[in-house]
Amino acid sequence: MNISQRDSKIMWHPYTPMKAWPEAIAMVRGEGVYLVDEQGNRYVDAISSWWVCLHGHGNKYIAQKVAEQMTTMEHCMFAGFTHEPAVRLGERLLHILPDMSRIFYSDNGSTAVEVAMKMAIQYWRNKGMPRKRIVAIEGAYHGDTFGAMAVSGRSVFTEAFTELLFDVTFIPFPERGNEAASISALDAVLAAGDVAAFIAEPLVQGSAGMRMYDAATLERYFALCKRYGALIIDDEVMTGFGRTGTLFACDQVSTRPDIICLSKGITGGVMPLGVTATTAEVFDAFYDDDRSRMLYHGHSFTANATACAASLASMDLLLHEDCTTARRMIVEAHAAFAVTLAGHGMIADIRQAGTILAIELRADTTTYHSALRDAIYRFFIGKKMILRPLGNVVYILPPYCITKEELAHVYTCIQELLTALENGMLL
Ligand SMILES: *Cc1c(COP(=O)(O)O)cnc(C)c1O
Repeated sequence: MNISQRDSKIMWHPYTPMKAWPEAIAMVRGEGVYLVDEQGNRYVDAISSWWVCLHGHGNKYIAQKVAEQMTTMEHCMFAGFTHEPAVRLGERLLHILPDMSRIFYSDNGSTAVEVAMKMAIQYWRNKGMPRKRIVAIEGAYHGDTFGAMAVSGRSVFTEAFTELLFDVTFIPFPERGNEAASISALDAVLAAGDVAAFIAEPLVQGSAGMRMYDAATLERYFALCKRYGALIIDDEVMTGFGRTGTLFACDQVSTRPDIICLSKGITGGVMPLGVTATTAEVFDAFYDDDRSRMLYHGHSFTANATACAASLASMDLLLHEDCTTARRMIVEAHAAFAVTLAGHGMIADIRQAGTILAIELRADTTTYHSALRDAIYRFFIGKKMILRPLGNVVYILPPYCITKEELAHVYTCIQELLTALENGMLL
């Protein structure tokens, strides 16, 4: 039996209808933008393996730094102890994050969000002003743990748990041309004075289908929160580390968030790591002789030294001018490709935020489990291309190491998909 066959007997995969998709493709090697399966097929990983692999696969520089850290000190508990990789990474993050002054580590995006919400709720309690309401945007995705699910849009993802999720106020998504409705909805909720925090995916709602909104709207949201004193939780788990053109999406607005969540690209996709960064103002509300005011939260792998070393190495690459040039190339190539697709009969919308290009196909069914979605996925797999659509939205979110030629090949495959759709050859 090969790996795929052995897998199908014992594994339970994430976000996978196990009956319809019994066999997972077994990858044995990663080389830059490529993943190689056990038959030797080379696939272009055009979505950075669920948005994490910033610099592609098998990066030697990161691997070397990780190996050095592993043989020096792989891990050390982080309560009562500390280490250079965690401190150095904290210093470097605070250098590039706007107005943040404290770093709390965890190990994935959902936990980074959980920590952010616990900080926000307890901040108000510690201040003697118990505000409890959290406001989020319809269609949001902030993770899969219970708290993160609660602030995520109600969907098939959360359906089985609806009654168990705490109450969250959702404002409408700021649809293009109708942003004012969303902004005034936020204004109305905030005016009640009981909002502890507003949480948002800045500029791009990833999981909802790469739904985008402009920086002016984000600025309005943030400014409103400041006016009413609600904390701003900026969930940059997907948008962080250069995805939207700037280093962080919130760099495109002047109002500063109070809490920033990071994960995914933070280690270049090499190791799991989560960060919740916050301001001195929030931290100070917990800095007290009274222990009931401290933050009771921690994970076994908090500040894992090897993960911090991977993150430092990834940051070396990210902040190097070669990477800036590479990102600019991707942004420009996407924009040029978008122009060639404009007005295409099979496309309902095409949108770009930095290195993310999303193409929304015209379709009768837009559900996550639609047959069209599966057909598109399989079409690309047949072309040895990993482009895992979100419903009827095909998007490219490439590793920054992708070359112009490799990107052109991705575009060609998308053109071929559109032709196949036009000719009714897909379903
Ligand atoms: C993926 C994601 C999360 C959850 O991160 P995990 O590491 O998958 O738990 C949270 N927020 C956003 C915006 C995400 O895209």
